[in-house]
Amino acid sequence: MTAHSSKRDFAKPQVDVVVVGAGFSGLYLLYRLRELGFSTAVLEAADDVGGTWYWNRYPGARCDIQTIDYCYSFDPELETEWQWSERYATQPEILRYLQYVADKHELRRDIRFSTRVEEAVWQDDTSLWSIRTSQGDEITSRYYVMATGCLSMPKTPEITGHDRFLGEVYFTSHWPHKGVDFTGKQVAIIGTGSSGVQSIPMIAEQAEELTVFQRTPCYCIPARNGPVPAHWLAALEGDRGAYREAARQSLFGVPIEPIGVGALQVSDEERQARYEGIWEAGELLGVVGAYADIITNAKSNETLGEFVRGKIRAIVNDPVTAEALCPKDFFIGTKRPCLDTNYYASYNLPHVRLVDLRKNPIETITETGIDTTDESFAFDAIVFATGFDAMTGALVGVDITGSKGITLRDKWAHGPETYLGLMTAGFPNFFTVTGPGSPSVLSNMVVSIEQHVEWICDVLDDLRRKGIELIEPTKTAEAGWVQHVNDCANITLLPQTNSWYTGANVPGKPQVFLPYIGGVGPYRKACDEVVERDYIGFVLEGHGRRSCTDGVIRRLQPDVSMVLDMIAELQWPRFETLSVDDARVFALETLTGRPPGPDVGECIDGTLPGAAGKLDYRLYRPASPGPHPIVVYFHGGGWMLGGYDTDDPLCRDLCVQSKAIIVSVDYRHAPEARFPAAPEDAFAAVHWIAANAESLGGIPGELAVCGWSAGANLAAVVCQMARDAAGPAISGQLLITPVTDYDFTRDSYKTNGEGYFLTTALMQWFWDHYADPADRLDPRASPLRADNLAGLPPAIIVTCEFDPLRDEGIAYLEALKTAGVAAQHIPCRGHIHSSLSLVDMVLSGADARVSMGGALRGFFEAWGQGDGLEKSARSR
Ligand code: FAD
Ligand code: NAP
Repeated sequence: MTAHSSKRDFAKPQVDVVVVGAGFSGLYLLYRLRELGFSTAVLEAADDVGGTWYWNRYPGARCDIQTIDYCYSFDPELETEWQWSERYATQPEILRYLQYVADKHELRRDIRFSTRVEEAVWQDDTSLWSIRTSQGDEITSRYYVMATGCLSMPKTPEITGHDRFLGEVYFTSHWPHKGVDFTGKQVAIIGTGSSGVQSIPMIAEQAEELTVFQRTPCYCIPARNGPVPAHWLAALEGDRGAYREAARQSLFGVPIEPIGVGALQVSDEERQARYEGIWEAGELLGVVGAYADIITNAKSNETLGEFVRGKIRAIVNDPVTAEALCPKDFFIGTKRPCLDTNYYASYNLPHVRLVDLRKNPIETITETGIDTTDESFAFDAIVFATGFDAMTGALVGVDITGSKGITLRDKWAHGPETYLGLMTAGFPNFFTVTGPGSPSVLSNMVVSIEQHVEWICDVLDDLRRKGIELIEPTKTAEAGWVQHVNDCANITLLPQTNSWYTGANVPGKPQVFLPYIGGVGPYRKACDEVVERDYIGFVLEGHGRRSCTDGVIRRLQPDVSMVLDMIAELQWPRFETLSVDDARVFALETLTGRPPGPDVGECIDGTLPGAAGKLDYRLYRPASPGPHPIVVYFHGGGWMLGGYDTDDPLCRDLCVQSKAIIVSVDYRHAPEARFPAAPEDAFAAVHWIAANAESLGGIPGELAVCGWSAGANLAAVVCQMARDAAGPAISGQLLITPVTDYDFTRDSYKTNGEGYFLTTALMQWFWDHYADPADRLDPRASPLRADNLAGLPPAIIVTCEFDPLRDEGIAYLEALKTAGVAAQHIPCRGHIHSSLSLVDMVLSGADARVSMGGALRGFFEAWGQGDGLEKSARSR
């Protein structure tokens, strides 16, 4: 922590906190702030409480998360005194509930209704927020909280002539309070997202004719509304506290155990049965939680997408309409799926018609109806169910100016930047509830709202006790969080889809993935950890003192964190505490259930002559016609553990990516065969493979070496041995997180020697078993120690940020360059030593693996248009 004295003035505000919005968020904030003794003013544009449930009164409006979950948990009395009448409550019932909460806790007295906040300015000289409203008044406060909702700023329909229509015009997002009677009317509805899907069957019940204008079909599953299913009720009522806590720690804010298996790891029958179960259960989260890889693996996702399309085709009688209703150009779950009641069946009604705007786009709205390229329609009423400027719309809808005159709109011109989705640098004491960069819309929002409200209030309370009056995130912390949010999104299919999650629904809006997809529980943990670690990433100021513990709260790739968490949870023993035999058995046990890696053209096992007897090898041949170049691969495992089985998925992946034959060769292991047995075997293997390239299906003379960890050490050593022995010719060396030196004093050992699976103690154990102390600095054990590195084949060295071996890999890279060897670096940000070997488990390593394949191809100039090191922005 750095601390300085501070001369900042803190003038007295009119109220401690101004909160904007009186929906689920604003109401709970007020309750909690009041309880803590903070004077609070809530400003709300509507003339009553309710937020979303005040505005969205269209027919059919309901929640799509079961209401027993989609409700507050902070008030134990409320939990039992309010009984929901059905599984998915209607808008009027949810609004009544929020009104009941407001009444019960006498919240209305601190809420100014019909008051829209138009401007908020941070005053550096007084350290106050000055807030101007549509009522012309100005309020000063120490803290300013936008509880303005993620889906509260309706999107202006960007349709030519949208204001020309002279008939009735309705927006689902601000529906008339007195309701609408469509009886006997010709009605159009534009939009088939959740609002359209809910309202279409209801409007169809009244209207004489209903024409639905659809640009993109959505995936819907039946809600199966009714009483709350008995098993859910039993779980809730059996132990309410545990149930709510499980929701808080879950991925999506509902207590559902995630499934550990991928969609393609089960039989077709089993998968189909599970999908039928999801279709019958009527739960939205069934879709995104169908299988562990449903939103990360395109092929897995396609199985569920096709299942739903099959259901649509079975329900909708007219095949052309059915086909138009089938989503085909985005992955299921990458836009919010819809829960429907009779949606698809509505299209079987004779007076309901679907117009597919992909085939027949709207040209203009006219005074009397809608003109498409093919047809003119006349209507009495047009309903716009065209969605929202989500997540940022309401925030940048207010003129917010932070420190030194910076505006939020300018700061976020290229997309929102936040720390934890709660605060943004340059805007002291300004909080957003469920802001961009938090789980928000990817969760049961009430759980996320409660978490944010509690975090904000607890922080304000804590700061007050410490005499601190200002909190602001640092740019470092914010940039780190934005990176983490993107890292999480990028291992899923979601950023690939144009949706309101990415801002793509609003023309001109910067397209970035807005919410945090790392999960509600993990997110909560990060928020709590920030506070526990001395408010890491925040500047705190008050009482003449300014302090900061700067840093980034999540630096590991998210899937790497998950692997480490899993290992911690399973309480794996540390290898170095086991006997060698037990360690070998355990190393094999750890492979159980791992994804197998991609298919290759052919995979054959054989033996070849080593330095002192036969060595097993496994050859992976690409599916493309041969002959192919050959890459000799050496597995990792500290020269003691492993074999070609352990590195099988990586070799498959290297084969697919490089389009070369991979020959994964075993070598004698320590401690039975200590140094220099392994390099001697490795060299013998390369010799034999080079000599037998043609019979293996390879191209003579096109041979590279590769290895991971201790195997990369052998690959590096073999290159030196081949140079010194004047053959065989080696075109290149790909060294993945190599051991290059017996030296534990480098920085990466100090910072990464504990906690990232490969530890200093384990490396010491490996070295102790592998080589006598006198041999450890021999260049055949520590290739960095070679007197001369000139004349070696081109090298690509892959290092991982959180690997104790990182710096010796970089040292070898630099030494090679100094010696005139062409050497390139693939640094992997946020990765650990084992990351790249965990194919299809650590998906964030995929880019680096693609680069590695490109690097191998680049070694073989004569053979192919190797594209060398493919730059990968994402994994750096
Ligand atoms: P909101 O409820 O949006 O309240 C924000 C309030 O801020 C509004 O009342 C608005 O008038 C006010 N406001 C905004 N700007 C200003 C300003 N400048 N000045 C003054 N006041 C302002 N989420 C789920 O998890 N499950 C569901 O089933 C679900 N169903 C939904 C159904 C619909 C139709 C919609 C639109 C959203 C749904 N959501 C659902 C998301 C829903 O928005 C949240 O669950 C939750 O209601 C948000 O509460 P909030 O208080 O944060 O924001
Ligand atoms: P939405 O999901 O963004 O859907 C808007 C629809 O309008 C889309 O079909 C969109 O087509 C279409 N559209 C937009 N502009 C158009 C144009 N210019 N021309 C033609 N079509 C156009 O909005 P929403 O339905 O209001 O739902 C938003 C979110 O609110 C939901 O995802 C959900 O989170 C929440 N919600 C929940 C429920 C619930 O069931 N509880 C109900 C309503 C809303 P494109 O896809 O082609 O852009």
